[in-house]
Amino acid sequence: IPPAIQQRLRTLNERQLDAVKRIEGPLLVLAGAGSGKTSVITTKIAYLIQACHFKANSIIAVTFTNKAAREMKERVQSMLSKAESRGLQISTFHTLGLNILRKEYHKAGLKPGFTLFDSQDSLALVKEILDKEFNQQTDEAAYCQHTISSWKNDMTAPNQAVTNADTEELLLAAQVYTQYQRYLKAYNAVDFDDLILMPVQLLQEQAELKEKWQKKVRYLLVDECQDTNTSQYELIRILAGYRKNFTLVGDDDQSIYAWRGARPENLEQLQRDYPNLKLVKLEQNYRSTKTILKAANTLIANNPHVYEKALWSDLGVGDPIRVMVTRNEEAESERVAAEIQSRHLRHDIPYKDFAVLYRGNHQARLLEIKLQAYRIPYKINGGTSFFARAEIKDLMSYLRLLVNTDDDNAFLRIINLPRRDIGPATLEKVGNLATEHNLSLFEASGLAELEERVTGKSLRSLQEFERWLRHLRERLKGASPVPVIEQMIHDIDYFGWLQEQASTPTAAERRIENVRFLLDSIQRMMESAWEEDPNAELDQAISKLLLIDMLERQEEEEDEDKVQLLTLHASKGLEYPHVFLLGCEEELLPHRNSIENDDIEEERRLAYVGITRAKRTLCITLASKRRQYGQEIDCLPSRFLDELPQEDLQWEGRGDESEAVKKEQGKASLSALKAMLNS
Ligand code: ATP
Ligand code: MG
Repeated sequence: IPPAIQQRLRTLNERQLDAVKRIEGPLLVLAGAGSGKTSVITTKIAYLIQACHFKANSIIAVTFTNKAAREMKERVQSMLSKAESRGLQISTFHTLGLNILRKEYHKAGLKPGFTLFDSQDSLALVKEILDKEFNQQTDEAAYCQHTISSWKNDMTAPNQAVTNADTEELLLAAQVYTQYQRYLKAYNAVDFDDLILMPVQLLQEQAELKEKWQKKVRYLLVDECQDTNTSQYELIRILAGYRKNFTLVGDDDQSIYAWRGARPENLEQLQRDYPNLKLVKLEQNYRSTKTILKAANTLIANNPHVYEKALWSDLGVGDPIRVMVTRNEEAESERVAAEIQSRHLRHDIPYKDFAVLYRGNHQARLLEIKLQAYRIPYKINGGTSFFARAEIKDLMSYLRLLVNTDDDNAFLRIINLPRRDIGPATLEKVGNLATEHNLSLFEASGLAELEERVTGKSLRSLQEFERWLRHLRERLKGASPVPVIEQMIHDIDYFGWLQEQASTPTAAERRIENVRFLLDSIQRMMESAWEEDPNAELDQAISKLLLIDMLERQEEEEDEDKVQLLTLHASKGLEYPHVFLLGCEEELLPHRNSIENDDIEEERRLAYVGITRAKRTLCITLASKRRQYGQEIDCLPSRFLDELPQEDLQWEGRGDESEAVKKEQGKASLSALKAMLNS
């Protein structure tokens, strides 16, 4: 065994080591937060490559979020040389599915350059179907979309959904589902759920293909496996194949995605599916102080358990857990911002060591304002996505159409952007023609027959557009795509259009910068795609881009010293020295919907996830009053606060704190104020 990995192994405890070295057969590592589950996975990948001489491209590792996948990749790459890690696949489930689909799309009945629909695209499609096919108002659209997604995650086919539907609402959703699949096919598009579902169906149906992939994957590792849904579980089972060599790690107490179809029961199913499953439990927590860990353990003890765990830490008692009660939500945000600034200044704690966690994204808005007021740099995770910006959506639609002319959605988005004076009446005629000939809108625009129906400027514009795009598609063949895209942007004078549209020159500048950033990302992605496949084409980068979302942008910002703002859901798997947990109130955490649906256990796990992100200090805040739907309401402290070990809580703002605490608070606000005045 090479000395580097040798040394790495020496830092592991006995059970972790056992989990790393066991490379034959199915293995489940089940353990509480911060016990080194992800560390086992990353070390094991290095071990497989360096000590067992597995080829990197025969190993597949998956996890849930892009951020988690990226962190995992970084941890592994720090242990391996560049050559050793080439071809290693560490990704989310969705990226893995996309990679399979990219290689086998023709077998799934897709054409090259197929488009990926994001959730906004799917919603638009559902609305279109409700309107066109069912003559229905679109208020049901969100419900239908969610229900269709659940069916896909459960691997329920449209006809099954129709048969099973026992209410009118479900029946409508099921019928929409049937149409939805038809439309997707016509658009040569797949949605997010398809990225898992389609590979699973393909591999189930085609024995040869299954064998090929099973041969390819020598070892499989899955992090956060308590949150796998049915189709993801199937994908694991299929890829694990006859070798059955895999490591799954998870923590049933951190299952927080039931609302998205996750089935923690899969952990038990695993034991039934693999009778020789080896179970390793880890019990030492290396992340948090004794106080924080005790709080987490005490809280989660209120939930029923599949497996009993006893998590301990020897990192010292540390500080008590502070609970700050404030007048209202504005004061809450103000306090958090002031606290961060003062601790940053007085104790020299970098901003990036602080994370503020909350239940819902809307809670971040006030906080942002306060952080800005104190001039504290921050970064929101999963806020308005880069790809939700208008200019990026525009350009991506151009690119989508460029690689897939069947993508009618993209066609419609950009046909008048910038203005080409092609009105709705003209588009309807194109639409009719397309339907009659069973062609896409783009193809219909090039038909000679169009001249019988459309005349004048509209006709010329359409034909020009069609010729122009076709020409660009020609140029794209075998060429490096970015110059072609630049030409395209130039041809339509897109920057000029942005300047015309934007409210201020700075706003326009920002948008142009975003577009440039997108081009850079495409260039970088192409370069890395060419490393593996010299013939890789633009569509590869595009589908990746659509999926990866803000990935590159986040990576660039990673090193920056910024306070991290994120939802509890997004915080899974991550850790921060100092954590603030906002809004510990009834109706917020636990969330009102969960109280109504009697789903407190999942909320408790969410709180558990939040608490266990903290390494050294934890500060919980709650407001006495909060504005909701334009009304100020009285808030009750969360029941979870009652479930924490009271002796470890240090309350502030209830009016009964000690002199010493008051003095500390005074000092904190004073130094924050000074900092504000100085800056
Ligand atoms: P979560 O359930 O939150 O995902 P986890 O079980 O995946 O947590 P890790 O993130 O792998 O836990 O580890 C938590 C912290 O403990 C990390 O900072 C990691 O570097 C450290 N750690 C893990 N194992 C050891 C060890 N044997 N010795 C020292 N530190 C360790
Ligand atoms: Mg982890």
